[in-house]
Amino acid sequence: MTELNYTNIRRQLEEEKAEILKSVSGGSGLPIHMNPDRDDLAQDYITLEKTIALKAMEREQLEQVESALQRLDNGTYGLCSECSELIPTERLEILPYATLCVRCQTQHERHW
Ligand SMILES: [Zn+2]
Repeated sequence: MTELNYTNIRRQLEEEKAEILKSVSGGSGLPIHMNPDRDDLAQDYITLEKTIALKAMEREQLEQVESALQRLDNGTYGLCSECSELIPTERLEILPYATLCVRCQTQHERHW
């Protein structure tokens, strides 16, 4: 099993965080001009809904990244939050903010 490179993981997480923050605060804001006389008003609402959904997704991702950084700090990083088993390095390299091992993740998805 390959040794987990915490420095790399941390850098990856910090970069991810910066990316999200940039896109949250950046240009893709809510459409300001909503003219009720226009035919494409429905389109505006679809755009608005998409934007809100996207923001929610980004917020969720940001929370995951921040909690991963916290776990790096308090030494619980890389442990499954359900069964406390080590999450394989290979998985963390692909998904640095994973909180569940593959087995628990699969169970979660099945329940949903
Ligand atoms: Zn687990």
